[in-house]
Formats: sequence, structure tokens, C-alpha cells
Amino acid sequence: APFVVVIDGPSGSGKSSVSRAVADRLGLAYLDTGAMYRALTWWCLDQGVDLEDTDAVTAAAESMPLRMGTDPTDPRVDVGGTDVTAAIRETGISSVVSAVARHLPTRAVLIAAQRECIERCSRPGIVAEGRDLTTVVAPDADVRLLITASEDARLARRARELHGGDGEDAIAATRDQVVRRDRDDSAVASFLEPTDGVRLLDTSELDFETTIAAVLELVER
Ligand code: C5P
Repeated sequence: APFVVVIDGPSGSGKSSVSRAVADRLGLAYLDTGAMYRALTWWCLDQGVDLEDTDAVTAAAESMPLRMGTDPTDPRVDVGGTDVTAAIRETGISSVVSAVARHLPTRAVLIAAQRECIERCSRPGIVAEGRDLTTVVAPDADVRLLITASEDARLARRARELHGGDGEDAIAATRDQVVRRDRDDSAVASFLEPTDGVRLLDTSELDFETTIAAVLELVER
């Protein structure tokens, strides 16, 4: 069986870049489950599926020709021959992805696909990240980790990513998006409280390298 590391955290916690770096350094595969919800959102919009319609979104999840790249240095997402890696990061997707992620039958389809990807990964192990990996997708993983950061730290990171700086205007523009999406997500994924056996890492005061070192230490322990 592959060696499985799962990392949950809210947006702006740094979990994606940290997960990729850790996977790369350990020679493991990488799975971004958030990208799967984003890809499904892209597919629904492409196919004219009503995002509020549970049955239609679930059917779209079942028919979606999704290929998730698991190379941590270049994780590309392909839907039916279209490379959607960049498109799924656009605001038009980010602002509605929570609506797609809210349908429980839809989640069941993506969760099954995630488990299969973890089981059959191309490397000796995998780092998979998202919102419900430690609790729902892979509660039996070898290492389970919840990465948190204060709201201020998360906003500053997101502002730098989305708006190229962490000045007042960039923070204000980001606050709306991040706070709203966390609230929309909290109905499904109670990602702010670690359950039994999940290690907690608060990165508010840590820079990137220190965070990676801390995660590597937890994994190697
Ligand atoms: O991680 P990222 O911000 O790209 O995730 C996009 C969205 O996908 C989240 O806002 C959430 O609605 C959904 N998601 C989820 N469960 C996961 C990963 C992501 O519901 N495991």
C-alpha cells in the first residue's frame, strides 16, 4: 500500500504550496482535491449544468472526463482534452465552487475518485490535500495534518497571490472572497477543528521554509 500523507486547511493556509514542496522533496505524488471541485465547476459551467441542481451536478461528476496530474512540480488538470489548470483558478470558478461542493451525492463521487487516485498513485506514496482528507477521504492515512493560520495571515497570503501585494486595497479586495468562501464551505467541511490523532500546525508566524521543515519532521517522525 502507498505511504499516504493528508493535509487539510482553509484557503490561504498555505497547504497547497506546502503539500507540493513536501511531496517533491519526498519523491511522492501529489493530489489537490480542491482542484477536482474546481474542475467539476468548470465542467458544469461548460456543459450548462445548473450548479444548484444536486442530481444534475452529480451526473456531471460521474460523466466528467477528468485527469488529475499528480506530479508535484507541475500538477496539471485536464478535462476531456482541455487543460484547465489555469482556468479553474479564475474568480468565476472560485466564487461558485462552494455551491458545487455542497451537494453530498456529488461529494461521494469525487471522494471515490480521490480514494482511487490515492490507492493507485504512480509513486511510493502521495501527499493529498483539501478540506476533508483527514476526516472523511482518508482517516486511515499514515500521517494526518491540519494546517491553520490566523485570518490576518491567510488574508495577507491570499492578497499577495490574487492581487500581487498585501497593502490595504489588496487586503480589502481579498477579505470578501476568502471570508465568504470559508463561510460557504464551513457547512460541509469542519476543517477548523482537528479530530483525534490529527496533528495541528499553526503557520501564522512561520515562513515557507520553516513550515516545510516542520511538516517534514512530522512526516518522518
Ligand atoms: O483548496 P481550494 O481552495 O482550491 O478548494 C476549492 C473549493 O473546493 C473549496 O472552497 C471547497 O468548496 C471545495 N473543497 C471541498 N473539499 C475538499 C477540497 C475542496 O469541499 N476536500
